Amino acid sequence: MKKFLGLLLAVFILFSPALTKDKKTTPYSFDAQAAWTYIKDLSTDEMQGRKSGQPSGVWGEEYIASKFKEWGLEPAGDNGTYFQNFTIEHRHIAEGVQFEIVTEKERRDFYYGEDWRVQRYSGSGHFTAEIVFVGYGIHAPAKDFDEYAGLDVEGKVVMFVDGSPQKLSRKLGDAANTRNKIEAARKLGARAIIVFRPTPGQGRFYGIGVDKELYDPDFVILSIEDNVTDFIFKDLKTETRYLFREIDDKGKPQSFETGVKAFISLNSYFDEKRPTRNVLAKITGSDRTLKDEYVVIGGHMDHLGVSPLGDVYNGANDNASGTAVVMEIARVMKLNKARPKRTVIFACWAGEEQGLLGSRYYCDHPPYPVERTIAYINMDMVGHGSGNVPFRGEYYSPEIWKLLEKKLPKEILKYTIPGRGGPGGSDHTPFLGKGVPAYAVMTEGYHFKYHRPGDDIDLIKPEILKRVGDLVHASVEILASEPGDLILPMRRETYYLKYQDLTNFKFEPLDHVTASHGDAKDSHVDLQLAVVEEKEGLSGDELRVDIINTLFDMTEEMKKFKGLTLYSPSRSVSMNSRQGRTTVMLGLKGIDALRDNPKWARVLAEGLYFVVADDLSFLFGEGGLTEEGKTFLKGVNSSSLLLLVKGLDSAQTKLLLEESKKPVVFLEEELPDKEILELIKEKEYALGLILSADEEPAAYVRKLEEAKEAIGASCLMIVNENCLWGTAGKGQMLKVISEMLKNEEKYGRRDFSDLFSSTFLRVLRMARGGGAQTSFSY
Ligand SMILES: [Zn+2]
Repeated sequence: MKKFLGLLLAVFILFSPALTKDKKTTPYSFDAQAAWTYIKDLSTDEMQGRKSGQPSGVWGEEYIASKFKEWGLEPAGDNGTYFQNFTIEHRHIAEGVQFEIVTEKERRDFYYGEDWRVQRYSGSGHFTAEIVFVGYGIHAPAKDFDEYAGLDVEGKVVMFVDGSPQKLSRKLGDAANTRNKIEAARKLGARAIIVFRPTPGQGRFYGIGVDKELYDPDFVILSIEDNVTDFIFKDLKTETRYLFREIDDKGKPQSFETGVKAFISLNSYFDEKRPTRNVLAKITGSDRTLKDEYVVIGGHMDHLGVSPLGDVYNGANDNASGTAVVMEIARVMKLNKARPKRTVIFACWAGEEQGLLGSRYYCDHPPYPVERTIAYINMDMVGHGSGNVPFRGEYYSPEIWKLLEKKLPKEILKYTIPGRGGPGGSDHTPFLGKGVPAYAVMTEGYHFKYHRPGDDIDLIKPEILKRVGDLVHASVEILASEPGDLILPMRRETYYLKYQDLTNFKFEPLDHVTASHGDAKDSHVDLQLAVVEEKEGLSGDELRVDIINTLFDMTEEMKKFKGLTLYSPSRSVSMNSRQGRTTVMLGLKGIDALRDNPKWARVLAEGLYFVVADDLSFLFGEGGLTEEGKTFLKGVNSSSLLLLVKGLDSAQTKLLLEESKKPVVFLEEELPDKEILELIKEKEYALGLILSADEEPAAYVRKLEEAKEAIGASCLMIVNENCLWGTAGKGQMLKVISEMLKNEEKYGRRDFSDLFSSTFLRVLRMARGGGAQTSFSY
């Protein structure tokens, strides 16, 4: 037997191609078995699920750093270490939680995650206490509604529902906020809150939004499902449905001490500044200048830890797999004494599962400038699947994919599928936000046991790791050694331009739009406003019939164009743009069709969404609206058409603001006076600040910021005069974005989106609110 094995080995050695070649010319390649072993080490039960901020997170960090050290990779973290230190907001529920309800007759234990949950920012507790029913949990004696009146809740558990009695909601105002309810319960001495649903049978109840300022280490906040509520009320001579009907109808509290007890035992922590670390290693570039440029590859090493019930989330696929591929590429490159021109950074991120915290920290505090980072490749969940490897990010950085497509070996390209990509889901997101071309790799196919116990090493297929490893390894080598300048100008601005849903306010006739942009797939223009123009010389019914005919022809014509989709209220602009299509919304240019008969506005609104009016002088007479003006406004207000007006003076604007019952968009080159701004804000209408064809971007953004200060981004929109499909318009908009990013801190999370499209869509919805809800069927 031994002899036979020896013979087999000899034959193997003789014919093994890898060993017969000259060692010096054969670089080592990605070893899938080795990568599999790192995954195995990282995903044993002893690793306890690698949760950042927990000891288990530290074990993962130490393991990876020790391997980097063993292989001789250069440390790329703080002070010559492999670690980039930072703190995270950390929440944790320790293993071993208990919740029981004790009635006079029986005691029942409830199952965590199915029957009840610990709410965010809950504290800890181990006690038995009586449950007091307090309805909506509102304590507003000053407003004559106190659901705690006459009750002693000191040391007890209060139970209430979200919201407030509808009839009283106006009167109660802030007192009905979750925040104030929780504070009231705590101030009155309650030990815990349990929230539940007033009417059973509405599916799972995940609870309420608690904010972190409410955290108190000794104050417990739980949510319960219907079956627990039922059990609490089982032996009581009343029901929740009845109680809430009484509160709602009579506006009187129905609170009472239930006599039922809760036994609660849990340890729940919140730490605003829990230390954790990214693990970073590097290979310094060999080129004198290019070594100050960077290629980063990474994946998150953290996972979900241990559940309150004691289940370990091993996270073999998510994301020991991506981590292991990063590690193995680092090992192989070092072993091959790779001398890339640019510096390569190998990153294992902490805190991804708690909100992309590690990669975000790196991008906000980059040890190596993100402006000089030519690309980032992220791997998250790459351990099994069909065998195809999607490589997503092409829409945002086509130039990087083009380069790789040209240079990657054919056998790798065979299974690599380029994809549109974009932010969301994993650690490539913060890089995109900084303008770094960032690609996301996640293997194709069903990912078993996602965020569940059972995501274990036995799911991991080495042959899949090999494909991912070869692809990313080859890509890194190409990107790190490609000569020339790979950093495109205005790449961060370009990302914003592409990522935001951008509206093109160049009101062109539809045939114009289709002729020039019909087959444009994946344009940065997401919403194109197109118009039907009123034909000169026509009036009255003749004109209206002509408009309807044009509309029919146009919508028929639209079907031919793959890159364009007609707007419909049931499909969002972003949904279309994620599929690479520009949404086209039709409106009417001119107002003659609406001057003499208000009924027609509703008919036209079946296919048209807005009216652009640049001459509304007929509306205004001495001391108010003219008869014709009233007719016109009545028509527009009774339809769902959104009115966009231009060229009104201040008195006319004011009058229109007062008289119109539906939102109006005021298109202006300069900021209107204060009183008008206040009226726009108060009525939640909108100001479209015109970006003129030759306007200086810096001056425009100053105006924009002033307007935003006055009315907020949700009432403001950027209205371009140049066509955004063209070079001039696109270039001007990029410069506007650039100016905005100079004062980045002035723009909140939603502001860009409001200014580019959301404000417009909001007022459009408002205009449609009272009008025809049906959509035109083509
Ligand atoms: Zn993941």
